[in-house]
Amino acid sequence: MAKISINLATGSLQQEEIIVGIDLGTTNSLVAFINPDKNPQVINDTGKGLLVPSVVHFNAKGDALVGNEAKDFLITDPANTIFSVKRLLGRSYKDVAGHQDTFSYKIIDDENDSLVKIKAGDKFYTPIELSAEILKELKARAEHALKTPVNRAVITVPAYFNDSQRQATRDAGRLAGLDVLRIVNEPTAASLAYGLGLDPNQQKTIAVYDLGGGTFDVSILSIQNGIFEVLSTNGNTFLGGDDFDRSIVHYWIEKNKLDAAALAQDSGLMQSLRLKAEEAKKALSSQNLFNEQIGDIWCTLDKQTFEELIAAKVAETLNSCKQALADSKLTVAEIDEVVLVGGSTRTPYVKAQVAEFFGRPPHDQINPDEVVALGAAIQADILAGNRSDILLLDVTPLSLGIETMGGLMDVIIPRNAKVPTKAGRQYTTSIDGQVNMKISVFQGERDLVQENRKLAEFDLKGIPAMPAGLPKVDINFMLNADGILTVQAIELRSGVKQEIDITPSYGLTDDTVEKMLIDSITHAKSDVAQRMLIEARSEGEQLAYTAERFIEKHGSFLTPEEISDTKTHIEALKQALAKAEKDEILKKADELNEFTRPFAERVMDVAVSSAMKGKSIDK
Ligand code: AMP
Repeated sequence: MAKISINLATGSLQQEEIIVGIDLGTTNSLVAFINPDKNPQVINDTGKGLLVPSVVHFNAKGDALVGNEAKDFLITDPANTIFSVKRLLGRSYKDVAGHQDTFSYKIIDDENDSLVKIKAGDKFYTPIELSAEILKELKARAEHALKTPVNRAVITVPAYFNDSQRQATRDAGRLAGLDVLRIVNEPTAASLAYGLGLDPNQQKTIAVYDLGGGTFDVSILSIQNGIFEVLSTNGNTFLGGDDFDRSIVHYWIEKNKLDAAALAQDSGLMQSLRLKAEEAKKALSSQNLFNEQIGDIWCTLDKQTFEELIAAKVAETLNSCKQALADSKLTVAEIDEVVLVGGSTRTPYVKAQVAEFFGRPPHDQINPDEVVALGAAIQADILAGNRSDILLLDVTPLSLGIETMGGLMDVIIPRNAKVPTKAGRQYTTSIDGQVNMKISVFQGERDLVQENRKLAEFDLKGIPAMPAGLPKVDINFMLNADGILTVQAIELRSGVKQEIDITPSYGLTDDTVEKMLIDSITHAKSDVAQRMLIEARSEGEQLAYTAERFIEKHGSFLTPEEISDTKTHIEALKQALAKAEKDEILKKADELNEFTRPFAERVMDVAVSSAMKGKSIDK
């Protein structure tokens, strides 16, 4: 493999075009850039504010509204107002099932392992589409403020995001019309904002403590030769400043001897109390006493009482820090720097506890709400080649992946991955008794394999005959430092294995790489739309197939009427499939699912229910 400079590898074709850094947050999102004075700066579009609330509202016509305007609908139209979509990104229903109460909108359970969808009006949206709406708003604000087109971005994600969540973030960017040059870990971006890691000779271990409104995480990073590595992460995705507010509300309820049951019915008053609690909490970051009233309710709080109220929650975060250190096999003394991220680290007690735990003052000079976006802008600037300390890395210039259902490209090693690298994913069969699986390896950025470059194809033979969905086939890609890709497929239940070596760069000129990258940007929107249709179709076809087989096998558990109604639903789904209309397919699939769910529970056939699960490769 040739040494490729970051610029070519990232497809940056026009040097002068701006690249922004985006912090796509659970509660708020921000976009930043490097200003003409060479300093990172968060974009404030005509006084609309720096933070864009990560909230999307759909009106009756299905038009999206994003940010502060959308936030107003959280109370008046909660069912069509989506918040915290980041929690759903790249997640299956199973992943989020325990937290349904947290969401006021409808999350669709399609009873298999595929990704969740959200219903608003009579349309179905994926978290990717919803995140894309937020990104579109950020892009528009940046373009308006900077008076230049913005087509390229670096987007940050939590260090604990898995492959699927990162891919979903990338897709959201593409759908918003952004070429996502890199997905960067939030703690890495925060460290960069403090200049950590910019000196290639620096070797450091950093702890990044991130306490936001609703989530907490801590990451231990090591930087060596300008390369960041996440050694460990820990945290709680349901712990944050909102918990502090709730503790204050409870305290006031007790102090004022309010009737909690009656209050629970009065959402207006509860909301006012919560807002007042947040106000008190923020005030206590710079003063010792808060003393106000809501009607005849005394909302008084002193700093010491506040600290007692939140002590247990803060202790919980320090336990996570302890765990993260243990996982990275480091002691507190081996941490060189501590970085604070997230609005809740403004609370002096939090800051003091973190300082005490790590035995050193943390970096807290940069606004903790902005630090990640600012770091992302620095990373973007490095990628744009505007820094003298630009890194030359061996990176893979194009994504590598395999063909899955419907001719879709499933990326296993994304472009820009540093080599050597390895990655893998698990697949299953889509047909009962399938004994062979064809594995086709492709290279490129387009969603459809037919638009990408085919590298190789082989059959994994001798899979023992099992019901669809039962075999577990691990496909592993290993790209070594010489650019040789080894693809290995192994069926885990039987141990059947097959392996080939490929040289992805063979016959690939820089011009071809560049053309493939330009094509991927030009076609991004249609590609993602097409992919969503194909995914809906595969899912619909699989469901119709499973439901038909279910009736065949277990008809005796159902009444004749139930069988005939099921068939009607299957027929409706098939008609939708024939029309190839994504929302229609999802709607009919949802209806079929809802209708048949009680039957599946009735039969409790383990083999069949597991056959309903899993991602599958055609053929
Ligand atoms: P983030 O998710 O990082 O935007 O953090 C938002 C959280 O930070 C919310 O719970 C806010 O109430 C909290 N926050 C914002 N400003 C302050 C402050 N001055 N003192 C304490 N907490 C704050």
